[in-house]
Amino acid sequence: MAKDMLGKGAISQRDGKTFAVAPHISGGIIDVAGLRKIVDIAEKYNAQALKLTSAQRIAIVGIKPEDLDNLWDDLQMKPAHAAGLCVRSVKICPGTTFCKKGQQDSVGIGLKLDEKNYGKELPSKLKIGVSGCLNSCSEHIIKDIGIVGTSKGWNITVGGSAGLKPRLGVTLNENLSDEEALDTVDRIIEYYKRHSKKKRLGEFIDEIGFEKFKAEIQ
Ligand code: SF4
Repeated sequence: MAKDMLGKGAISQRDGKTFAVAPHISGGIIDVAGLRKIVDIAEKYNAQALKLTSAQRIAIVGIKPEDLDNLWDDLQMKPAHAAGLCVRSVKICPGTTFCKKGQQDSVGIGLKLDEKNYGKELPSKLKIGVSGCLNSCSEHIIKDIGIVGTSKGWNITVGGSAGLKPRLGVTLNENLSDEEALDTVDRIIEYYKRHSKKKRLGEFIDEIGFEKFKAEIQ
């Protein structure tokens, strides 16, 4: 069985011979020419499939190891952080940019969060979700840091997770402006980075206590 080659953004597949790669696409938003380029390159290297992932990526599946370097040269895109101890994903719903139900600009704030934090090394993996209204299409409530828009501003939740130990995030702040929300996320990440030892954010908050965590972040 081939091993993952994280330096090349390549995850080994079940066949034991080929790899999946995924270029980073901020917020899962890409223009038509960018999408066509990915499709053309996938075809050039005989990909078995393109897989739309839950982290809003396009995985190119079934690539031979000897083609990985040339594929990335052709793509001229950065690999996504699909594994590793870092900010893994910033999932963004269409918000007021595209969605008629949107109450806040989830694309605007989400892309800023992505630019600032994506790939940042941390004590454990960390996922962020940004929803433009309480319909919660980015599933922010099961992200380590969740941000949801209401008519009064942004609410922030912390400690959510899916996977092996599923849990819902707990509300940390309500009715924040864009600047306040961005600043709060900065402080959460910095505090977590400085004080946690290999625990996911929710487990770290359990360890020190939510009220202490909240007081430290404010
Ligand atoms: S969470 Fe709200 S704004 Fe975002 S896509 Fe869903 S309905 Fe639209």
